[in-house]
Amino acid sequence: MDSDNLAAVLHSKGDLRLEQRPIPEPAPDEVLVRMHSVGICGSDVHYWLNGGIGDTVVKKPMVLGHESAGCVVKVGSGVTHLKPGDRVAVEPGVPQVMDDFVKSGRYNLSPNLFICGKAPNDGSICRYYTHKASFCYRLPDNVSFEEGALIEPLSVGIHACRRAGVTVGNSVLICGAGSIGLLTLLVAKAMGASQVIISDLSADRLTKAKELGADCLLAVKREDVPEELARRVEGMLGGMPHISIECTGAESSIQTAIYATLSGGVVVLVGLGAKMTTVPLLNAVVREVDIRGVSRYCNTWPLAISMVASKQVNVKPLVTHIYPLEEAMQAFETTRQGHGVKVMIKCDKSDQNP
Ligand code: NAD
Ligand code: ZN
Repeated sequence: MDSDNLAAVLHSKGDLRLEQRPIPEPAPDEVLVRMHSVGICGSDVHYWLNGGIGDTVVKKPMVLGHESAGCVVKVGSGVTHLKPGDRVAVEPGVPQVMDDFVKSGRYNLSPNLFICGKAPNDGSICRYYTHKASFCYRLPDNVSFEEGALIEPLSVGIHACRRAGVTVGNSVLICGAGSIGLLTLLVAKAMGASQVIISDLSADRLTKAKELGADCLLAVKREDVPEELARRVEGMLGGMPHISIECTGAESSIQTAIYATLSGGVVVLVGLGAKMTTVPLLNAVVREVDIRGVSRYCNTWPLAISMVASKQVNVKPLVTHIYPLEEAMQAFETTRQGHGVKVMIKCDKSDQNP
């Protein structure tokens, strides 16, 4: 077997290196996956530039990456639903303890979650990665590895739309047209939203949103006043949106989302901003606007894969750059500079895309 397990390893703040790691052996309930495609997430770049996120700090070298798909090459002795040759998408968050959150199906809220690529756990920007087999999902032949890697951020969009209760006929404001906002747009449309308006500071990102089916575009400037933006949203939609899904984390954008939402509606907060944020809470209280959080996802992979396979969503246009693993540093630099939308790293030396 191959002995090359090149990996993108973060040693400390600003110190990301490509280096060889031993190829791991799968435990009885694990599979060894030859990684094919791994998307770079904003949080990977944050780890690289800051040596951690919030209280999670890199204390020992760790492999980055958690948006991944690849090919099973070896299965643990207890694995029955996968076999070598199966193409899979990897769900990074695996519960470790059968606690009340896991029992009730909201396993993303379990405090005992193993998360691939979250310190201190190694991630998947490498040639070979082991993962719990029950959190690896087979990809149909018509779903590419790049699409398989996008199942992870697509899952954030699905979970956000589920938390919001998006349904047929809803009008939805999405704040931010980064990869999370754009995928949320695709999901909201697929779930029946009749009108989706999306905001961003960047004209390029709004152009992408238009391409992906946004009905209205809200070009925001940093100095814009949230209450005025909310009135613009109402004017463009011909009424206030039932739902707002905030995907920037910016304080002013959260304020806009609250002001813009129809009384009795829902604001879902996906964007992760400052620890303390000033928001017009009274406005939400007196108008019964529910504010709900989002912590990644749960129970989304099968749905996300079937949405892609059945072409209910087309995630392909999000991939704007693909770099081989050997050029991972350039891939990180491209993401840092905010070029394009989704930057992918191709970890497999022999391209085996269908
Ligand atoms: P991104 O940086 O690619 O996209 C954010 C977009 O918001 C950018 O296009 C930016 O121009 C735009 N923006 C910034 N300020 C704005 C403003 N005031 N008004 C309108 N647009 C504005 O990030 P992403 O990968 O798309 O992720 C979006 C957010 O979601 C991040 O905060 C990320 O940390 C968070 N996130 C949360 C979860 C979760 O589980 N809650 C999961 C994944 C990502
Ligand atoms: Zn991510």
